[in-house]
Amino acid sequence: MGISAEGKGNGKEFVSHAPGYWSRDGGIAAEQWNDWKWQLKNRITSLAQLDEQIELSEEERAGVLLSGDKLALAITPHFFNLVPREKNPDDPIRRQVIPRIEETWTSPYDMADPCGEDSHMPVPGLVHRYPDRVLFLVTDRCAAYCRYCTRSRVVSGAGEQELHTDFEEAFRYLEEHTEVRDVLLSGGDALIFSDDKIDKLLSRLRAIKHIEFLRIGTRVPIFLPQRITPELCAILAKHHPLWMSVHVNHPRELTIEVKEALERLANAGIPLGNQSVLLAGVNDDVETMKTLVHKLLMCRVRPYYLYQCDLINGSSHLRTSVAKGIEIIEGLRGHTSGYALPQFVIDAPGGGGKVPINPGYVLYHDHEKIVIRNYEGKIFEYPETGNERVQPAPQREYHDEYLYS
Ligand code: SF4
Repeated sequence: MGISAEGKGNGKEFVSHAPGYWSRDGGIAAEQWNDWKWQLKNRITSLAQLDEQIELSEEERAGVLLSGDKLALAITPHFFNLVPREKNPDDPIRRQVIPRIEETWTSPYDMADPCGEDSHMPVPGLVHRYPDRVLFLVTDRCAAYCRYCTRSRVVSGAGEQELHTDFEEAFRYLEEHTEVRDVLLSGGDALIFSDDKIDKLLSRLRAIKHIEFLRIGTRVPIFLPQRITPELCAILAKHHPLWMSVHVNHPRELTIEVKEALERLANAGIPLGNQSVLLAGVNDDVETMKTLVHKLLMCRVRPYYLYQCDLINGSSHLRTSVAKGIEIIEGLRGHTSGYALPQFVIDAPGGGGKVPINPGYVLYHDHEKIVIRNYEGKIFEYPETGNERVQPAPQREYHDEYLYS
C-alpha cells in the first residue's frame, strides 16, 4: 500500500496501486481495502464520484450521463486506481471502463445480441448452441462493467433486456440432456456470489453425473482480486475438474494483487486461460500484446483467445480491423513461446460460434504437396504422401466462389 496511481511506467512490471485515490484524508485501513465486500460497496458509480477524482473529457462526461440507460457505470476502487490522474481519455484502462458518448453512436453493423445467444436459449439463462456444452448465465451483475461488453443488453440491469435465469428449469434441462458434458458459468460474473451460493451452484451441477467439466468465465480476479480468498479457492477446489477463463486486455491490469490472486487459483489446481478482446487504443499493437502474454505466463495463465471485438451496439470506437488482429498474431507466432500465443477468433455474427483466424501460413496445397511459410517469411515444401484419401482443404475454390457469387 502507499503508492499512487501516477507514474506507473509501461506496464511491464507488476506493481501495486493501492490505496491510490483512497489515500486521502488519512487513507483507508488495510483490512477494509482487502475486503472484497468493501470494494464492491465503494465502487465508482456516479459522475460526482468521478469528478472528485479525475478530470473528464467532454466525451466522457456525456457518456457517463447517458450510461444509466445502457450499461451502468461501476468500477471497483482497486481497478479505478489503475486510471491515471492526469487528463488522458486515451489511457487504455480508462477507455475500457469509463463511458464515452461514442457508445450512443450506431454503425450499420451494430447488433444487440451479436453472438445470437437469445435465439439459442431453450431455458431462460441457458444457451445451448453447441452439441455437448452450454453457457449458463447465472447473474447479470459484474464487479465492474466493460464498455464493450458483448452482453450489454442484459448485463448491469440498465440495458434494454432483463436476465431472468430460471435455475430449477435449467438444472432440469441439464439433467435431461445427457449429451451436455461441459458447462460454462458466465453472466455477468458468478464469482460475485457469496461462497455459499457458489458452493451450492457447483454442487448442484456436480450432482449431474454426465457433466464432466465445469468452467467459470470471470473478470473478478482482475477487477476484484480481493475476492479470491483462500476460502473461495478451497470451495472451487472441491469441484474439479474446474477450469477458469479470466479476462485481461492490457498488461497494466496485471498488478501485484492480481498476480497473487491468480497464483492462489492456480495453487488450488485450477487451470487458467485468458480471453482478451482486441480493442482500439487499448491493446491493438504487437508490443502491448507481447508484454501482456508474457506477464500472463508469469501469472501461470495461458493466453487462450484473442477476440475480434463483437459487433455490439455502441462499440464501433473500440473496434479495430480484423487485419490488425492478424498482424498481432503474425508478430507473436515464432517470435515468442508457443504457450504465449492466443488463438485469434471471430465469434461469427448471428451465432456461428468462434472461428479461428490465422495469418496465411499455407501458400499452396494439393495432392502432392503443401507449400508453407514460417514466421520469417521463408518458404518450405512438405510432401503430401502416405494417405491419398485425404482431401486438401479447398480454400481457394471456396474463396473464388465467395468473391464472385
Ligand atoms: S466482466 Fe464480462 S460480462 Fe461483465 S461487463 Fe465485462 S465483459 Fe461483460
